[in-house]
Amino acid sequence: MNPARFSHRFLRQCKLNMPLRSFTARVPLLLVCLSAWAASLPFASAQTCGQHGVAVQVLGSGGPELQDKRASSSYLIWQDGRPRVLVDAGGGSALRFGESGAQMSQLDVILFSHFHVDHSADFSALIKSSWFEDRARPLPIYGPAGNEFMPSTTEFVADFFGEPRGAYRYLSELLVPGEQSTYKLQPHNIPGSEKPSAVFHTGDLAISSARVVHGAVPALAWRVELAGKSMVFSGDTNGEGGLPQLAVNADLLIAHNAVPEGATGVERRLHMPPSVIGQIAADAHVKQLVLSHRMLRTLGKETETQSEIQKRYSGPLHFANDLDCFPLD
Ligand SMILES: [Zn+2]
Repeated sequence: MNPARFSHRFLRQCKLNMPLRSFTARVPLLLVCLSAWAASLPFASAQTCGQHGVAVQVLGSGGPELQDKRASSSYLIWQDGRPRVLVDAGGGSALRFGESGAQMSQLDVILFSHFHVDHSADFSALIKSSWFEDRARPLPIYGPAGNEFMPSTTEFVADFFGEPRGAYRYLSELLVPGEQSTYKLQPHNIPGSEKPSAVFHTGDLAISSARVVHGAVPALAWRVELAGKSMVFSGDTNGEGGLPQLAVNADLLIAHNAVPEGATGVERRLHMPPSVIGQIAADAHVKQLVLSHRMLRTLGKETETQSEIQKRYSGPLHFANDLDCFPLD
């Protein structure tokens, strides 16, 4: 909500826009209203990540299991106190988004690595929240093209907000052309290839992606360049595909620590063990490595994970927790 609309609501609720018959009679009411007003202020004072320069905030550091007591995958890129890019929106991340102090009206773009639940479940909650803000410009959304197992990005967004079958078609004005709305969602399908390719560019923000292997699920890794800093998000992948190329010389690589060393079978076909993460980080000469998407099968194994990675990669290594902030200066 913009400040003008907010102060108008404050005056109206507190009836301070009416003539004051007795100032002393109104003092208690004024105090109550003032404290209610302060309590309902937006999170501006709570926002501490990326006040100056570029930073990545981890909104969700967990995987799909609720018992990890973490929000599922989601990352927010800040620049000079403003949230610019959201990568994934797993369950719980909408709450973390609010806790971070960000507003949906400030985002330039949303990126999806893939549409597993733990990367996308809070998307509709974020969009509904935006409805109460003053967003006026379109919101581009980029993610994979679909296949027989998964919707494309345009299908995914239409499954929520499209007419006539969207689950939340009562908000179709946000998507359907011609319907009166303050802003529109603009979903795009990115088929991706192993070779990184440019996807989005505006001002000092440039985004590219590469296709990665995550079982049969269409999946992308993302690289965001902002004000001379580069951040790469592996998404879920077994390490095959374009991640090594995409990550070259990145200032920060966020890799998913979903399986321990020695994983086999389906787990290994979907995810990269620490040795593979370490090799990719080393070969790409990334300047900082953050491990996220921490699951019950990797939590508690940080010592082994760290040692497997450090056999190959000698740069700074962090294990992410929700709301951790990684400045890039
Ligand atoms: Zn996942």
